[in-house]
Amino acid sequence: MSAPTLYHSPATTVTGAATRPDAFGNAVVLRCRACAAEQQLGPYYACMECFGPLEVAYDFPAITREQIASGPPNIWRYRDLLPVRPDIAGIPNTEPGYTRLLKADNLARELGLKSLWVKDDSGNPTHSFKDRVVAVALAAARELGLTVLACPSTGNLANATAAAAARAGIRSVVLIPEDLERAKIVNTAVYGGTLIAVKGTYDDVNKLASEIAGEEAGWAFVNVNVRPYYSEGSKTLGYEIAEQLGWRLPEQIVIPVASGSQLTKVDKGFTELGSLGLVEPTAYRVFGAQAAGCAPVAAAFRDGHDVVRPVKPDTIAKSLAIGNPADGPYVLDTCRRTGGTVEQVSDDEIRAAILLLARTEGIFTETAGGTTIATLKKLVETGQLDPDADTVAINTGDGLKTLDAVGDRVGPTVTIGASYAEFTAAGLA
Ligand SMILES: *Cc1c(COP(=O)(O)O)cnc(C)c1O
Ligand SMILES: [Zn+2]
Repeated sequence: MSAPTLYHSPATTVTGAATRPDAFGNAVVLRCRACAAEQQLGPYYACMECFGPLEVAYDFPAITREQIASGPPNIWRYRDLLPVRPDIAGIPNTEPGYTRLLKADNLARELGLKSLWVKDDSGNPTHSFKDRVVAVALAAARELGLTVLACPSTGNLANATAAAAARAGIRSVVLIPEDLERAKIVNTAVYGGTLIAVKGTYDDVNKLASEIAGEEAGWAFVNVNVRPYYSEGSKTLGYEIAEQLGWRLPEQIVIPVASGSQLTKVDKGFTELGSLGLVEPTAYRVFGAQAAGCAPVAAAFRDGHDVVRPVKPDTIAKSLAIGNPADGPYVLDTCRRTGGTVEQVSDDEIRAAILLLARTEGIFTETAGGTTIATLKKLVETGQLDPDADTVAINTGDGLKTLDAVGDRVGPTVTIGASYAEFTAAGLA
């Protein structure tokens, strides 16, 4: 693997330091996840010492449940736990989050689980969990004086980035693999930014984006050079689940894995709530879900490896089709440390699970959610998941964006002429 681009060229050090002392709230430093070396808060993502990934570190004051509960019904209620200024809720951005946590009794019964919830992040502004991470990245970009919001994307991030930039009144530049689902292309293009279709896989697109990020001053690639801030947005999924369960942690959680950022940050969110005394720090097990056509982390887990060997994706779960996941090793750490696993499911199992969730709970998920629900089912069937423990599965996206996944499996029950005689003849009354 080649070393990531560092921010050393004159062009990219024009900006870099925030102008306000409280620009990042209670965040104090960027810390390397590999060697713990520290770096000032800025548009940096790779450690100067070892090229390891940087993560935002905080010095939290005492924070109460009441303080959080009195905030707005979106992710900014957790602003004191995010790298954003205290008055963030008043600044044009998107207002993602506080999506519904549904008790999924029908699905639980069908799978043989005692208590199951679905965290339904299809309810976000652009219908996936990506609005959370983009909102925090946009806030950081502003404070750092970066004026273009950009990303390489498997689809949902493209939607969220283009929409957030439109609302913020700044330019967006979005790079996607050219073979994306039509719905994800249209859902990006409507917002009016620059949309670049690249002939290659997501991993090719990502590499190109890193090169551009190293050259273009003033560009915030949400999941590249401002990735430490971006990934903090995923913590809010963990915060919300705990708050919506009545300020407690679930015992098991199933999370889809693309780059692995979301899974590791939900875990970070749970840990922070425990150490801040906002919940009892009870034990929980984290399970990762991948599609068999792109399952480098599941394969490493199965084989007991610490390194993740890149693969070339071939799956209908395009939003999870990252063959070389940046946070793969940290997903392995998290799942092993908490007593969970990383599993993989076939495209057919994904299609069946989309229909299962729709039929039992009235939730139409995209292929990533199909991957998660199919994995949940497999974990129960193989005895990896305790059927008596409180379990949460995250639905990260909306089925309207991946209609083709199930479009040839469902349709009208029957087609009839507009007469009562034909209706009765069809025998459906
Ligand atoms: C991006 C994405 C994920 C996974 O995100 P990572 O943080 O990269 O692992 C899961 N589900 C959907 C729908 C996504 O768009
Ligand atoms: Zn380091």
